[in-house]
Amino acid sequence: MSDTIERIKCLIIGSGPAGYTAAIYAARADLKPIMYTGMEPGGQLTTTTEVDNFPGYPEGIDGPTMMVQLQQQAERFGTEVRIGMVTSVDLSDEVGGIHKVTVDNTTQIEAETVIISTGATAKYLGLESEQRLRGGGVSACAVCDGFFYKGQDVAIVGGGDTAAEEASYLANICTSVTMLVRRDEMRASKAMQHRVNSIKNIDIRYNTEVEEVLGEQVVEGLRMVNNQTGEKEEIEITGLFVAIGHKPNTDIFKGQIDMDDTGYIITEGKSTKTNKPGVFASGDVQDKEYRQAVTAAGTGCMAALDAERYLASVETAVEA
Ligand code: NDP
Repeated sequence: MSDTIERIKCLIIGSGPAGYTAAIYAARADLKPIMYTGMEPGGQLTTTTEVDNFPGYPEGIDGPTMMVQLQQQAERFGTEVRIGMVTSVDLSDEVGGIHKVTVDNTTQIEAETVIISTGATAKYLGLESEQRLRGGGVSACAVCDGFFYKGQDVAIVGGGDTAAEEASYLANICTSVTMLVRRDEMRASKAMQHRVNSIKNIDIRYNTEVEEVLGEQVVEGLRMVNNQTGEKEEIEITGLFVAIGHKPNTDIFKGQIDMDDTGYIITEGKSTKTNKPGVFASGDVQDKEYRQAVTAAGTGCMAALDAERYLASVETAVEA
């Protein structure tokens, strides 16, 4: 541990659209925020090529460039962006209490407010061919990347609400969507199942798994296997969407911050308040439903405003 412990007003953990937007607002409110970027500076968008659905970019923008610009905007108002991984936290239960955060197992920081924007990580199947073709036709976000497959044949893996919703989204854009469900039924709600069943260009294959994604540089096809009969089949596709769930990056907060049974942070009402006074959560770490850059940015703004109001109320209480 270092000798002197730094004491700050606002610590932002995570550097996706939620974290940077929180940083822009917190810096402009003179909270002098410090951000720790985590292992993947810029977050999930840095693995996306083109972002076409963020308002204000009529020509679209590539994900990494957008994140660099968000960082520059946050720094322009005085945010200090540091590369580092928060490895443990000791969050106070008291209003006005100090939250202790350890970075890279060595540096300790004391913060009056903490904004958690650590995001979520898409799950992948783990096949070598799938990993090799990520960015070359394999995607974990149909809403982000579906447009590039307009008029083409694609496949989607998964049987949950996300897969069902993304399959119907893709069916509007693409010629055909083959949906691979590993069991003999879907996990998705009945309403979503009904929806995908009623769309003509979605071909649902039950008891079916991906054996290999075909193609060298880009996706050209898929070899699938029926896990009941062992029967294999190859189909030609140009895009494979993996929709088998996300894992929120909340392990370091377990036991301190209230979460739902899948690990997403629970926030209070329409706010970004967590169960700990002065600790706020924004972005995908508290949202399993919308998961868009623009919604993450919106909640990042809310978290900074909540932090600012919290600090003002603590100050008023001390003065009174
Ligand atoms: P889920 O965990 O609900 O579903 C994951 C799906 O992927 C399941 O069908 C699962 O199969 C399948 N799967 C998991 N691992 C593999 C694998 N290795 N190979 C093949 N298939 C696999 O995740 P979702 O992202 O769909 O949803 C997360 C949460 O968000 C849910 O609570 C959902 O209801 C909610 N949500 C709600 C929406 C809405 O209300 N509009 C929209 C989107 C999500 P199996 O069933 O066999 O485990």
